[in-house]
Amino acid sequence: MIAHDLNRNRGPWCVVCAVEKRSSNHWFKIIDEPRVRMVAELDDQRPGDPVCGEACAVKKISEWMSARKARR
Ligand SMILES: [Zn+2]
Repeated sequence: MIAHDLNRNRGPWCVVCAVEKRSSNHWFKIIDEPRVRMVAELDDQRPGDPVCGEACAVKKISEWMSARKARR
């Protein structure tokens, strides 16, 4: 089941640690484009994955870099 389809007033949820956004803490959005992964402000209009702060944003970037290195 996908909770955020049931109630539009909730979320977003962090794609890394699954915490729900509550107050005005510093959320970001991870945006994937061909050969690029970038961090944007949460209200950026491009589609992307919300993350709850710097630690989770860095984790997503690290995963991407590790995957790229593994392909060499
Ligand atoms: Zn998180």
